[in-house]
Amino acid sequence: MAHSLESAAANALRLVLERIEVAVHQAGRSSSQVRLVAVSKTKSVSVIKEVYDAGHRHFGENYVQELIDKAPQLSNDIQWHFIGHLQSNKAKNLVANVPNLYMVESVDSTKMLANCREEICTALGIREEGCELSMGMSNDFELAIHMGSTNIRVGSTIFGAREYPAKQ
Ligand SMILES: *Cc1c(COP(=O)(O)O)cnc(C)c1O
Repeated sequence: MAHSLESAAANALRLVLERIEVAVHQAGRSSSQVRLVAVSKTKSVSVIKEVYDAGHRHFGENYVQELIDKAPQLSNDIQWHFIGHLQSNKAKNLVANVPNLYMVESVDSTKMLANCREEICTALGIREEGCELSMGMSNDFELAIHMGSTNIRVGSTIFGAREYPAKQ
């Protein structure tokens, strides 16, 4: 029956979690130090719900309007990560409409983030361990775990390839 069949996305989530376990172990880190953000941009509410039902709670979106549309259709214990470019005039709208927004990860520049963290922490006078690093996507999350990432953002490996509407 339906409940005995794991959805493709739930199955893919499980495989990603297993790969994270291996990478974390090899890097000599603990799995509590690495958070998996399931990137659901362009994906339907129903497939997000399948991954939610498999026990996952951290999801990422990178378009303000898409997140504002989806969030109320899904459980409010989801912890949403906004991972796109956030224009300052849209920030207020996002916060007002997504009460369960958990984190905004600015991803304007991806060049040598690991070094960037060191420089930023030094400049701010905070310990590096107290500063999160969001690095790693479907193609390189294991490497990112080795490099100290605390947030890996995996989309297509969980949800399948994204389909964008054809350009006119
Ligand atoms: C789409 C997206 C991802 C996920 O990419 P995949 O290659 O599908 O895992 C991660 N981070 C950001 C900022 C994205 O926009």
